[in-house]
Amino acid sequence: MTKTGNQTKTGKPFSTVSFFNDVNRFFDLAARHTTYSHDLLEMIKDAKSVYRFKFPIRRANGKIESVDAWRVEHSHHMHPTKGGVRYSEMVNEDEVMALAALMTYKNAIVNVPFGGAKGGIRINPWEYDERELEHITRRYTSELIKKNFIGPGIDVPAPDYGSGEREMSWMVDTYQAFYPGDVNSHAAVTGKPLSQHGIAGRREATGRGVYFAARECVDVPEDMKKIKLAPGIEGKRVIVQGMGNVGFNAARFIQQAGGVIVGLCEYEGAIYDKNGLDVNEVFEHRKATGSILNFKKAKNFTRSAEGLEQDCDILIPAALENQITLANAANIKARIIVEGANGPTSPEAEELLIGRGCIVVPDMYANAGGVTVSYFEWLKNLSHVAFGRMHRRYEEQSNQDLASLMEKMTGTQLSKEQRKLLVKGPTELELVVSGLEDTMVTAYHEIRDIKMNKKEIESLRTASYVGAIKKIATSYMNLGIWP
Ligand code: GLU
Repeated sequence: MTKTGNQTKTGKPFSTVSFFNDVNRFFDLAARHTTYSHDLLEMIKDAKSVYRFKFPIRRANGKIESVDAWRVEHSHHMHPTKGGVRYSEMVNEDEVMALAALMTYKNAIVNVPFGGAKGGIRINPWEYDERELEHITRRYTSELIKKNFIGPGIDVPAPDYGSGEREMSWMVDTYQAFYPGDVNSHAAVTGKPLSQHGIAGRREATGRGVYFAARECVDVPEDMKKIKLAPGIEGKRVIVQGMGNVGFNAARFIQQAGGVIVGLCEYEGAIYDKNGLDVNEVFEHRKATGSILNFKKAKNFTRSAEGLEQDCDILIPAALENQITLANAANIKARIIVEGANGPTSPEAEELLIGRGCIVVPDMYANAGGVTVSYFEWLKNLSHVAFGRMHRRYEEQSNQDLASLMEKMTGTQLSKEQRKLLVKGPTELELVVSGLEDTMVTAYHEIRDIKMNKKEIESLRTASYVGAIKKIATSYMNLGIWP
């Protein structure tokens, strides 16, 4: 394995494992199931543009600091390229390249017509005040503008670990300051607040997508029979690692659908209760006490990783990469792993889990909800109109007419509630959720079919790569360079 980087500013060592190598190992495994030429596969695999830069900032205390930053555009087979910007002290070039590659494959799997990209700013965002963060974000954006690494048709950043709506707001505002007359400038960044031309449902989109992924997986009776579980999400015992935007929302949606959240893991430790934990209550408890530990009667684990090894049906790692490795894979009890985070399972650990009959629902599919709804936001920004605005009233009026006609023909009067239910036109959120659900359901069965159609394809991850490679290869071949 390749060594990467050395250490962070505060002396913490970077990972010594190359994440990009891991992604490429998965790619190579899948490429064996295709018939494309070596050079075409290499073309798909390599990062196309890697921009590494450094800029100085003045801290609130007057000290000057230099900040390392990256933007990697992994694939230009479609434009724009798309992916979040990670704010983390641990971020390094190898990681950004790996995450950009995953974005390429992710977009292809869920049929989002973008290339993949990722950005990174090497700071611990919790150690900077708001004004400093604004300064860093605006400077980062202007560096991207200088090199033509951002734009509605070029490369469109979004939130990732350590960034959110606030940062996206600063980014788009900076972009607009440089391109004042561009009517499409809002489409240069996604994950913006609703008031800044964002879209309903973007914030919880990744978590909601993870829920749809888990639900699709457990809804296939044939697959559940093999792992001795009853089909359906209801009653499934679930452990979630990470109470951030992805983990918290995934847990909430699963709980709403009747799943039982038996365990939650965070930096400070893990909690477990076989009778179930109320996710919202744990969230409030953490807000009040600063920790998930000591929640009601739940069992405490001060070593967070122990939480992953407790008894459950589904494990959702939704924190960072490299959480399930050979060091703990043998102790994992879950029969299904749904990867909310990017790269949480190492290739060796996955092999071991699959060998034991587990189902691993891979990151590049399971966490694609965020970029899917980003795509909807981009479409909304380019069309300059909110989803549903043009036809909601019209649809409601047509439904009213239809309901009245039905009443006349049948001689029965609908109740007020029945009529309301029948005539209601869709809101933007309802359209977003329906588009996301359709995307996640369709993609799951596309991947599963690839796996079922070739017995040598052992995992859903390999199947996902095979599907993605085929789609990307087709678009390269359409350029007429490859036969
Ligand atoms: N950072 C998210 C991801 O890894 C979202 C990317 C986007 O919306 O462009 O999928």
